[in-house]
Amino acid sequence: MQISINEGIEVVDKRLCLLCGSEGGFLYKDLRDRLFSAPGIWNLMYCAKCEFAWLNPFPLFHDIPKLYQVYYTHEDNLSAQETFKRPLSKVRMSELLVTLRKLVRDCALFDLKYKNNAPLFLRMAVKISSLFLPLYQEQIFSLMALTKLKNGKLLDIGCGNGGFLSQMAELDWEVYGVELDKEAISMAKKKEELRIFEGTLQDAQFKEETFDVITMNHVIEHLGDPLQTLEECFRILKKGGKLVVITPNLNSFGHLIFKRACRILEPPRHLYLFSAKSLLKSVEKGGFITSRLQTLARTGGSIYHLSWLIKHYGKVPQNLISKNLEEKYRLLLSRAVFGVFEYFLSHFVSIGEEILMIGVK
Ligand SMILES: [Zn+2]
Repeated sequence: MQISINEGIEVVDKRLCLLCGSEGGFLYKDLRDRLFSAPGIWNLMYCAKCEFAWLNPFPLFHDIPKLYQVYYTHEDNLSAQETFKRPLSKVRMSELLVTLRKLVRDCALFDLKYKNNAPLFLRMAVKISSLFLPLYQEQIFSLMALTKLKNGKLLDIGCGNGGFLSQMAELDWEVYGVELDKEAISMAKKKEELRIFEGTLQDAQFKEETFDVITMNHVIEHLGDPLQTLEECFRILKKGGKLVVITPNLNSFGHLIFKRACRILEPPRHLYLFSAKSLLKSVEKGGFITSRLQTLARTGGSIYHLSWLIKHYGKVPQNLISKNLEEKYRLLLSRAVFGVFEYFLSHFVSIGEEILMIGVK
């Protein structure tokens, strides 16, 4: 294996598809980081048979942290969750959107069996609105669609600052996390006693058949060897246990429209990009039986916004809101139209920006 240096990062040439071993073709050449200005010039390879893409040159494991020196898991998101804890009566009219989200969240909690008092008329209204707006989908999948499980043991791989874990701990899950990023872990440790292992999943050496559920939310695309991780998940899950994966969709509407400027590609941190087909193939290689596979279009609007900025400015500017008023309103309007259109379309075709897969051991 010939090692070379890509602007200070040790890399190897990677031409063969991880899933089928055949040689990939170039999907895009000469990409740079458009979000955090990590070093390197990168290509994306594509295997048409598997509908699967990967970064080339491919960074060596010990140099991957260099791609994350400025990254958003270093920010805290507690304040966003605090809003859900406040009683409804204290929410002012000016916080209409927060109130709306809370009502929708109550319905999501009801449907996932955590709560038993969301009124029928509200649930019906939310179901009807969920044909056109992704509010309900947002809430269900912020809980990774996990129904209540008495004494359930949950492991979140790549748990970041622990936002998801503290939410699930409040819903009575026994929560565990694995995370590589030291700064994210120190954020997580400021919260209640979250059990977070610092290192890779393999380093953690959990006992066989330990967990009821393992989640990976926007993580599998960052892994140097996703197949090895899937096999390890299979080993440490109980029989009948569930693996829930959410990852960007290579076949999304946003990618179709914006091509190389699409936000979801995120070079060089996304080492692999999956389609429903390649994700299915990967989890089956890991030993799982797939019980649910669909795309989610809850982020269509923001993917449109960020991709538009990348297309027109070459990167995402620090200040997302343009000073040019005409551009600002045009962008906000087209973002809303794109988001609603993609969301509605996603009921019929698998073009959402994310793929959700639930595998069972
Ligand atoms: Zn392939």
